[in-house]
Amino acid sequence: MKGSTHLAIGIVIGAAAAAYYPFTPLNAAAYVGVAAVSALSADLDGPSILSSKLGKLSKLLYTLVHGGGWLLVGAVAYLYAADHYFNLKLAIFSIAALLTGLFAGRGAIRNFLVTVVGGGLLYGGVLSNMAWLIGLGLFVGIAPWLKHRGMTHTVWAVIAWGAIGYGLERELQLEGIMRVAVIGYVSHLVADTLTPSGVKWLYPIYKKSIKLL
Ligand SMILES: [Zn+2]
Repeated sequence: MKGSTHLAIGIVIGAAAAAYYPFTPLNAAAYVGVAAVSALSADLDGPSILSSKLGKLSKLLYTLVHGGGWLLVGAVAYLYAADHYFNLKLAIFSIAALLTGLFAGRGAIRNFLVTVVGGGLLYGGVLSNMAWLIGLGLFVGIAPWLKHRGMTHTVWAVIAWGAIGYGLERELQLEGIMRVAVIGYVSHLVADTLTPSGVKWLYPIYKKSIKLL
């Protein structure tokens, strides 16, 4: 399944949540950011097969999102350094943009960058004593080095992702974040199940791939 398809599904889920729950622009950014990353993150694993399938327009889009992500992360860091201003919803949206941009890359450099982002999240989690952020850092840091469509494409990963979403929802005091995270993540596995190679939902308990085609 193409990355842009997963991303589109994620954005629709985030937009639906933004419309369903009490609306503010920052809440909408948080829902869309969480849903987009949740819908894509299963493919942080293995050699990225996305870039070979990317059209010119998607490539440009990913490059813009990637550049925008670095700028936003820089802005968040600057605001914190200069003014001690920190907004978690804005930070989540920035990291989401950065990770989304990184999906288009492939090879060792991309994996290295993703692991650096994971390490940064892990470090932030330890500093701020946030278990969910430590969990997210571990997920992002380890996933690139796993086999493609392996552990990240299982119900165990959904449970881990849901736990991260639960912690984030409590941290933000924003209703629906965990639900959006789980629905986003599951949407990815369901979409991949519709492809010929399918998904090993219960790996390693049940090692066969489950597919519809
Ligand atoms: Zn996948």
